[in-house]
Amino acid sequence: MIQIVQEGQEQQERQEFEVDENQFRRWEQVANQYRQEILLLEQQLWQTNIDKVFQKGKGVPKKLQQKLRKMKMGKSNRQCSICCNNFSKDETIIQLPCKHIFHQSCLFSWLDHSTKCPNCRSDVLEDLKSEEK
Ligand SMILES: [Zn+2]
Ligand SMILES: [Zn+2]
Repeated sequence: MIQIVQEGQEQQERQEFEVDENQFRRWEQVANQYRQEILLLEQQLWQTNIDKVFQKGKGVPKKLQQKLRKMKMGKSNRQCSICCNNFSKDETIIQLPCKHIFHQSCLFSWLDHSTKCPNCRSDVLEDLKSEEK
């Protein structure tokens, strides 16, 4: 009689222990999820600060970028000072109002973040606006 009761108690204790362990694991999962979310938020905050420092999105609007003078490159030994590569023949290049030339793709990604010519720092946005008037 006594033995049976003891066995029953033992089983019950083991079951309770197993339930506790599962709950603990679940809490650990929840804690990990929160930890990951916090890490993600910290990263996003960090990225926002970087964007502020480099003034991302304060370049020349895409609409105005399209108004820049597009040209096909002829034979030349000149270099694009953004990527430091030579221009190849028939490549699409852009000439800024200050007469400096760059690869189209190089210049467009530059102008997404800056309004100034990479060579002489003259303000492209101002030049484009005064051309519009
Ligand atoms: Zn380039
Ligand atoms: Zn220039």
